[in-house]
Amino acid sequence: MATAGVKQFKNFIGGEWVDAVSGQTFESVVPATGDVLGTFPRSGAEDVDRAVAAAKQAFADWRLVPAPERGTILLRFAQLLERDKQQLTDLMSHEMGKVLAEAGGDVQEAIDMAIYMAGEGRRMFGQTTPSELRDKFQMSVRLPVGVVGAITPWNFPIAIPAWKLTPALICGNTVVLKPAEDTPLLAERFVELLSEAGIPVGVVNIVHGFGEEAGDRLVRHPDVPVITFTGSRETGILVTKAAADNLKHVHLELGGKNGIIVMEDADLDLAAEGIAWSAFGTSGQRCTAASRVIVHEKVYDELAKRLVARAEAMRIGPGWEPDTDLGPVINRAAIEKIDAYSRIGEAEGAQLLTGGEAATDGDLAKGHYYRPTIFGRVDPEMRIAQEEIFGPTTALIPIADFDEAINVANGIRYGLSSAIFTRDVNRAFRAMRDLQTGITYINAGTTGAEVHLPFGGTKDTGNGHREAGNAALDVFTEWKSIYVDYSGKLQRAQIDNQ
Ligand code: ADP
Repeated sequence: MATAGVKQFKNFIGGEWVDAVSGQTFESVVPATGDVLGTFPRSGAEDVDRAVAAAKQAFADWRLVPAPERGTILLRFAQLLERDKQQLTDLMSHEMGKVLAEAGGDVQEAIDMAIYMAGEGRRMFGQTTPSELRDKFQMSVRLPVGVVGAITPWNFPIAIPAWKLTPALICGNTVVLKPAEDTPLLAERFVELLSEAGIPVGVVNIVHGFGEEAGDRLVRHPDVPVITFTGSRETGILVTKAAADNLKHVHLELGGKNGIIVMEDADLDLAAEGIAWSAFGTSGQRCTAASRVIVHEKVYDELAKRLVARAEAMRIGPGWEPDTDLGPVINRAAIEKIDAYSRIGEAEGAQLLTGGEAATDGDLAKGHYYRPTIFGRVDPEMRIAQEEIFGPTTALIPIADFDEAINVANGIRYGLSSAIFTRDVNRAFRAMRDLQTGITYINAGTTGAEVHLPFGGTKDTGNGHREAGNAALDVFTEWKSIYVDYSGKLQRAQIDNQ
């Protein structure tokens, strides 16, 4: 590993770039090569406490800044992301590992979200309603909650901070961001650009470090009333329990085990393309990745053949090389987990059709690469069809008819995304109604959400909240109902009192 001359990065607290109080650091490592990109503060409780104090102080004024003015800053932020898009894309292909086209898409999603939320500064609609009484006016307004603790994962290192911070900020909250320990440099660039856009001192703070240390302190801090978290189901449960003593608002976006149904009348070329993109894009490290393909027996063999051919034609390499189809996975632990599931799949009796091993030819040995993996004839109850693997692995599950397809699709604990390929409009509408997921695609893969519709899932994928679009505002505001009596006399509410 190249550690000599490595740049040291800092936390951003109350407008100052500072080290962790303990002086401890950790490294950000390129998953494709093992090179070190920089060192970052390994923050503890004291660092989090300072960041929360700065955010709390800044809230006193930020909540009073007119929302359209807050929107102007977010619009400038979007322009700065646009200005630096190429550089951020390149950095993401190094620090996180995804291929250039997807890294560019990640940055673009942040740009789009910032523009959308800037516009919310001039909407943030409430309701006005008639009153039961004469000469009385009433309305509801959204008010900010306070300091938001944002805990983010590494798989969308620019987009997810944007999904969380831009709605939090437009609503008038201040933020402490604890980004993933695998992609701290992208998070620090994100915060630098917010600062350059004109976010006032203390309104956005970043505290680097590990989940069990900095993350846990943020979740438990009594002055942080809102936690927004994206990560694994298991950590989501820990976060919920840790936040319970203070009755915090907890927003969770957790895992998925997303299924694509392919009926016998589907356009198989289109389906194969959609499945390959959803299963192997970002090396399967998306919470919306298609890790199950639920396919009608009549087209099973043909689809399996086409998918295997596509998987075997993928070029594996560093994300920044323009002809790479499949980049590395995030770290060594990820390789071990994905490989363990390949062995579990074989032991369970599924047919390994392709892949099932790390890719270590030549320079690939320096990084964390895994071959695109397809299991065939998978039983829906097998662990590889039930548990989130978060790698380039998908399971083909044969079914005999539409009803069985829906039952298999719904027969998991998660409920994020789903898809169906069919030319039958009646089936398509039944699928839209009956698939128990927060997102359903017709004749497309399971990935590709747009920023202006709600994003999130049912069942164990979350706790009922949604990110993105107008729905995101519900996480970051409290409703207040206001009654104004201009009759000049005491009017009692409820008509039966009159
Ligand atoms: P992943 O498998 O995607 O790494 P995690 O749920 O482990 O998912 O991590 C997502 C984010 O949650 C990261 O920023 C991580 O540091 C943080 N985290 C992990 N454990 C905890 C915890 N106990 N409390 C708060 N945050 C945590």
